[in-house]
Amino acid sequence: MLSIQGVHKWLGHNHVLKGVDITVRTGEIVCILGPSGSGKSTLLRCINHLDPVDGGVIEVAGERIGYETHGTTLYEQGERKVAKARQQIGMVFQHFNLFGHMTVLGNVIYGPTKILGKPKAEAVQRAHELLAKVGLEDKAGSYPSQLSGGQQQRVAIARALAMEPRLMMFDEPTSALDPELVGEVLTTMRQVAEEGMTMVVVTHEIGFAREVADRVVFMDQGRVLEDGPARDVLDNPQHERTAGFLRRVH
Ligand code: ADP
Ligand code: MG
Repeated sequence: MLSIQGVHKWLGHNHVLKGVDITVRTGEIVCILGPSGSGKSTLLRCINHLDPVDGGVIEVAGERIGYETHGTTLYEQGERKVAKARQQIGMVFQHFNLFGHMTVLGNVIYGPTKILGKPKAEAVQRAHELLAKVGLEDKAGSYPSQLSGGQQQRVAIARALAMEPRLMMFDEPTSALDPELVGEVLTTMRQVAEEGMTMVVVTHEIGFAREVADRVVFMDQGRVLEDGPARDVLDNPQHERTAGFLRRVH
């Protein structure tokens, strides 16, 4: 579903990704751990084509969209291709980024109607199903400001799922939440995982990684230091830097 080979990324003078290789098979749940500044968000941005890569190849669902760009940007290589590839990916951020002037239902049907061109009735029906799935059926008419952070994040997950992505990516989805609201979001993510969605999750929630992830990738200073079955990486890390990180976040 996702193949990242030898990806390099520079931000200004910063060599942020230094030859990253990661493969994610269909249905796999991969958690990416690593200290702040190690390049995790940058990697997700490259996968989602928000940022062109400076070297290497990224393929999503067999579509090759990251190239050795040789000075041209990814966008110059075909905006339509990028837009199509991006549609395969659902993205959930630390800050939920809901449209504040739209109801919950409005948020969830926006993409399907405006971007996918689905009939409104169909989008509304699907939105109600998704809101039921994330436990917010009764909030369809509420505005984001009337919801807790955990509820807003669950709406963000429903909104991403409404686009029928083949891959869901989460960038520290619970980091901005009060501790008592983290559990409900992780439960929703676990449900999405159980339905067979392919997921890449950047998180510091070790318990979630241990229970839900098939694989854990540990990134440090723009490189993948470890990549293996969740239990192997979490219980028996091969690098001192991984062990140190795990001690700190536990
Ligand atoms: P993480 O998500 O793992 O915390 P990031 O991908 O956000 O890491 O950042 C990786 C590195 O890139 C950090 O050293 C950060 O300071 C640097 N960085 C992020 N954005 C920019 C930018 N616009 N210009 C230069 N450096 C940046
Ligand atoms: Mg980040």
